[in-house]
Amino acid sequence: MYKRILLPIDLDQESSREKALPVAMEYCQIFGARLFLLTVVPEFGSGLIGSFFPPDFEEKAISEARDRIEALAREKISSNIKVSCHVAQGPAYEEILSSARELKADLIVMASHRPELKDYLLGPNAARVVRHAPISVLVVRN
Ligand code: ADP
Repeated sequence: MYKRILLPIDLDQESSREKALPVAMEYCQIFGARLFLLTVVPEFGSGLIGSFFPPDFEEKAISEARDRIEALAREKISSNIKVSCHVAQGPAYEEILSSARELKADLIVMASHRPELKDYLLGPNAARVVRHAPISVLVVRN
């Protein structure tokens, strides 16, 4: 049924992947689907604020994000699942939506929000992805 599953990962929120990752893996096993791991690093701004960052700050952040998501794939994803790692930069929900399109994903699996924020049901990125994605989104409740 699903063949290309996108799992967006917030590397700063270890807990955000604890529930979504096993669900995405299970779906991959059941459907023989390929898994795309995606993490999005923010833009660090231009103009006055941006001028305070060292010139190679962005490249280092992107490279660190790539190392971390690849380590995650090695450590947590079963070897019988075909997985590829992707790093994007920009607003998280926009990059999740555009990556889903580019990677031709047919399902997005993501956590609802950080577990410690119990006063709302959907985090800002999850809410926007659910609202705008033209494909199915499985929101794993924290
Ligand atoms: P919260 O603000 O509580 O973290 P979010 O809506 O931002 O709520 O997070 C829910 C899910 O959105 C995360 O589990 C993850 O799947 C996705 N997400 C959020 N930020 C990022 C990011 N920087 N890169 C990739 N995915 C992200």
